[in-house]
Amino acid sequence: MRRIPLSIPFVDDEVRQAVLKAVDSRRYILAGECEAFEGELAHSVGRKHAVLSTSWTSAVYLLHLAMGLRAGDEVLVPSHTAFPTIEPMMHCGARPVFIDIDDTYCMDPNLLEAAITPRTVGIMPVHLYGHPADLEPMVGLARRHNLWLFEDCAQAQGARYRERPVGSFGLAAGFSFFPSKNLTVLGDGGCVMTDDDQLAQRLRMLRNHGRLDKYTHQMAGFNLRFNDIQAAAGRVGLRNLERLNAGRRAAAARYRERLGKLVKVPPERPWAYAVYHMFVIALPGRDELAAFLKSRGIETGLHYPVPNHRQPAVTSCFDHIPSLPVTERAVDEILSLPIHGEISLDDVDYVCDSIAEFLRNR
Ligand SMILES: *Cc1c(COP(=O)(O)O)cnc(C)c1O
Repeated sequence: MRRIPLSIPFVDDEVRQAVLKAVDSRRYILAGECEAFEGELAHSVGRKHAVLSTSWTSAVYLLHLAMGLRAGDEVLVPSHTAFPTIEPMMHCGARPVFIDIDDTYCMDPNLLEAAITPRTVGIMPVHLYGHPADLEPMVGLARRHNLWLFEDCAQAQGARYRERPVGSFGLAAGFSFFPSKNLTVLGDGGCVMTDDDQLAQRLRMLRNHGRLDKYTHQMAGFNLRFNDIQAAAGRVGLRNLERLNAGRRAAAARYRERLGKLVKVPPERPWAYAVYHMFVIALPGRDELAAFLKSRGIETGLHYPVPNHRQPAVTSCFDHIPSLPVTERAVDEILSLPIHGEISLDDVDYVCDSIAEFLRNR
C-alpha cells in the first residue's frame, strides 16, 4: 500500500558530506560551523544576531531570562499554538493572557487592545502553520503601549509579511529546527534572533555557563549550547530553504484548488507569503476522515486538539481562564494533511482523491 507521511525532514548528499566534514573537524561545540550558521541565519532574516541553542524552547527561555521577564508579568499570546510557546514564560512566573484567533488561525489583532492591563509587558504572535500573523497593527499597539513584541517563528522560517521576512519585526524572534519544521538540523535545535547587542550578548552568556570569557563567569547560566555537526546540516538546509518552501507552496496551491469546494481550506492574506509548515483543513467529523485516510496509508495530524488555555498545566496554575469561541470551535474540526518541501503533486492528488472519496460515501 502507498504510504504518505505527514512530513519528511530534508536530507541529501550535500547534508551527508557536510556532516562528515564536521565530524572530521574535531571541533564540535560552538565552533566554526555554529558561528557560520548563526551569521547565515541572521542574514536570511535581516537581523544583526542569531543565537543558537538546543531548541526553540531553550533559546526562548534564555531570552525571557535575559529580558528580565518576571513573576506577575502578563504576555498576550494565542492559545491555539504549540504548548512550548507558553512554557518559557511560565517558568519565569509570567502569565499567558490568551487571545482568540481569526480565520488564518493566528492571533486576532482586533482583540489585543482590550486585553492590555497595567501588568502587560509583551505581545507574542505565533505565525501558525507558516502563515504570518497580522503584524502591522501589533507593532503599532506594542509601540503605543510600550510593550515588547516577540515573534514565534517556529513554523514560519522563510515566510514574509508585506515582503519582509517574519522574525524581523519585534524586539526578538524564535525559530525551531525540530524535524517537522521548514528548516531542520537532524535533531532538535533552535535560535533567537534580535538586533539588540546587549540582549544577544546576555543570551550567549546564559547558554554557556554565564561566560564572559573562558575564565570569567558573569552570571549563573546553563549548558544549552548548539553543536557543529547539526549546524553543518542546518547550513545546507538553509541554502535549500527557499526551494523547499516553494515546494510546500506548490503542494498547498494544489490542495486548495482540489479541496476548496469540499472542505474549509486556510486563507492566505494578500500581504502574506505563507510557507505552509502545515496545510490544515477543517470539517465537522474530521476524526472519521482521519481514520479513513489512515486506512489508505495517509498520515494526518492534529495541531492542536487541546488548546493551551484548556491544558492541565495551565488550568491548575491560573483561576481566570477565558473562553475563546473561535479557538474552541476550530480545534474540533482541524486536520493537518501531509506536506513537506519535496512532496510530489502526485502524492497530494492521492490525498485529495481519498478525501473526495470519503466525502462522496459519507
Ligand atoms: C515547534 C514549536 C515550538 C517549540 O520548538 P522546539 O524547538 O521543539 O522547542 C514553539 N512554538 C511553535 C509554534 C512550534 O511549532
